[in-house]
Amino acid sequence: MNWRKSILIHVPHSSTFIPDVYRTSFLLSDEELKHEVLLMTDHFVDDLFAIPGITSHINPISRLVMDPERFRSDADEPMVKKGMGAVYTRTATGKLMRDLSQSEHVEILTNLYDPYHAGLAQKTARILAEHNLCLIIDAHSYPSEPLPYEQHDDGEQPNRPDICLGYEPYHMDDGLLAKAVDYFENRCGLTTAHNEPFAGSMVPSCYYHRDPRVRSLMIEIRRSLYMDERTAEQNHRYGLIKKRIHNFFTHVIG
Ligand SMILES: [Zn+2]
Repeated sequence: MNWRKSILIHVPHSSTFIPDVYRTSFLLSDEELKHEVLLMTDHFVDDLFAIPGITSHINPISRLVMDPERFRSDADEPMVKKGMGAVYTRTATGKLMRDLSQSEHVEILTNLYDPYHAGLAQKTARILAEHNLCLIIDAHSYPSEPLPYEQHDDGEQPNRPDICLGYEPYHMDDGLLAKAVDYFENRCGLTTAHNEPFAGSMVPSCYYHRDPRVRSLMIEIRRSLYMDERTAEQNHRYGLIKKRIHNFFTHVIG
């Protein structure tokens, strides 16, 4: 099966951009906001997954303004209890971050969340129409040390491997998953885990558990592999990790 032509790379969390119009709702000082951006951004993931010739969908705005990986309705989104639904209200440490009226909340969903998801669904539909399948690669990174909001209610501390592969069985292909594990572990010498520390992978809601032709695999890289997490600077392994990611598309999916 030729997956390469059917790929859609999704990068929701790499932007640090907070437009002025949304800055005013933040209760943090410039210094505090800068620190929150440092902690919460999937730094450089848009660059690590910039693969020529493959369709991508990248959030141009910081997740602190709008997080497209969350369910639109707070009633459906478990992270709301941490103040991290589609529109965050709390920091990674649980501090009140934004004071939004209901109408401001709705405005962000209408003007940012909805168009973002419409664009993602359109790209998925176009690829499906052309190739009868669509493989979404949901690209992320995560910090080496768990942030306070990650704390599990049962106190369990999940693994933090080099590469986390997230998916739901309905939208995953067993052969592709096995090839991904083999590639990262045996060819790259990296550790992997399934759905740990984060689970699942983005599927547009109109296809979610409705169309098995939409496959989705989340690839999350532990940030210490490619950057200095205190300064958000690339480290000496950055080029190597970028090459490993590019080769994934050539050797595993190509
Ligand atoms: Zn992310």
